[in-house]
Amino acid sequence: MAWPTGPPALGRAARKTLRGGSLSPHVSLLVVGTVALDNVETPYGKADDVLGGSATYFAAGASFFTQGIRIVGVVGDDFPHPKLEFLKKRGVALDGIEVVKGGKTFRWAGRYHFDLNHRDTLGTWLNVLETFDPKLPAAWRESEYVFLANIDPVLQSRVLDQIKKPRLVVMDTMNYWISSKKDELIKTLARVDVLIVNDEEARQLAGTPNLIKAAAIIRRMGPKTLIVKKGEHGALLFNDGSVFSAPAYPLEEVFDPTGAGDTFAGGFFGYLAKHGVLDEDHFRHAVLYGSALASFCVEKFGPDRLVDLTSAEIEERVGEFHELSRVPKGGLGSLPPRVSS
Ligand code: AMP
Repeated sequence: MAWPTGPPALGRAARKTLRGGSLSPHVSLLVVGTVALDNVETPYGKADDVLGGSATYFAAGASFFTQGIRIVGVVGDDFPHPKLEFLKKRGVALDGIEVVKGGKTFRWAGRYHFDLNHRDTLGTWLNVLETFDPKLPAAWRESEYVFLANIDPVLQSRVLDQIKKPRLVVMDTMNYWISSKKDELIKTLARVDVLIVNDEEARQLAGTPNLIKAAAIIRRMGPKTLIVKKGEHGALLFNDGSVFSAPAYPLEEVFDPTGAGDTFAGGFFGYLAKHGVLDEDHFRHAVLYGSALASFCVEKFGPDRLVDLTSAEIEERVGEFHELSRVPKGGLGSLPPRVSS
């Protein structure tokens, strides 16, 4: 069954974009991932049947930068379609989401610890994902940019098989797949340009506690670029011979970290796709935009904060990110002479 909506309708919110200019109309950014219903518990509250999924958060983040976002995924016919209306209004194409008649949507349940940097997965119900076989519409095989959001690595590979000549392939994954499908994951990894994971996942994947060593090991597995997210401690970008460290935004109120990683990826990739330049400087800016988007995501439960967010708010926060690690040029003079005792 196809998704019961027509082509994407650009709402007023979607017509304006970051840094003035119009949304990039010619970009094609395909994302395969989960569209989910989550049950989330944090120290501040509990909510059931919250809209979730890696593709959902990614598309929400990327939609501030570019048109031409296409979601490939699957839900059951228990999925409440109006929950995704806000993405359609932002110009995201939903017709690649298959609706399985009589099937149940993928579900995830998680509980966050007091420090919110750690969470326990209480349950993962693959449901319709177990038999999902993604088939891309012919026109989508030409997609320039591809994001393999967190999903079974076998499905990530099957999507890549169908893409003709992507300009950039970025991938995300999580501990669940590193533990259950490591061999398949490593095969997919060999085909991607950029991997985005959190620090625990990087250590688990590389089998070493030191992040710098882990980065070198992972980059030898395939991706030339590695981004390691460190929650409230920011993110690291590893490229050939360079490491860039972005701070995290010092938020006083974090309600629900769910989806922050995927929203980061959406901001990161949306920025790159909009500008179309894939050099170190653009990667660094993209990390700051991703971090800014993620910092908004955690302010409310589920993707709620991304629904009413404005481009002006994003630009303001990116400015604050620059200020966070700005050091005045010139220094304070030379060090005082050493006093020997
Ligand atoms: P994040 O907090 O960025 O790691 O993403 C959380 C989202 O990922 C939730 O909305 C879940 O529905 C989704 N999710 C959780 N576990 C999985 C999994 N094993 N595969 C794909 N998506 C998942």
